[in-house]
Amino acid sequence: MLDKIKNYLRRAHGMDRLSQHLYYLSITIFVFSLFGQSQILRAISLVGLFISLFRSLSQKHYQRSKENNLYTKYYNRVLARVKVFFLNIRHFKTHKYVVCKSCNQQLRIPKKQGEVSVTCPRCRNRFDVKS
Ligand SMILES: [Zn+2]
Repeated sequence: MLDKIKNYLRRAHGMDRLSQHLYYLSITIFVFSLFGQSQILRAISLVGLFISLFRSLSQKHYQRSKENNLYTKYYNRVLARVKVFFLNIRHFKTHKYVVCKSCNQQLRIPKKQGEVSVTCPRCRNRFDVKS
């Protein structure tokens, strides 16, 4: 019996980024639900924990990887835009930061140059930016 459990766990997908983030989000929602006495938030957090556990123990690696890759793609896109937002605040006098839409590369453009045609050094995507 113990060997069967060990073998099952050995073949499980494990914690990927999507499962981890779902786990952390569910724990956070659960802690907030304790302060507000909200049954709905508590139920949502438990569903999130269940899905995170289900994904970690699943043996359908291809499907779980596909879900994780899709999540990672959007996560990186949002993360790049958040980084650029704060860089634009920090360097608003001298430079403007933009994100390449095809590869999420951060690009720095000098301010007060008018409309600039930019070529991404990573993927060679060309686009116009007002600096
Ligand atoms: Zn690019």
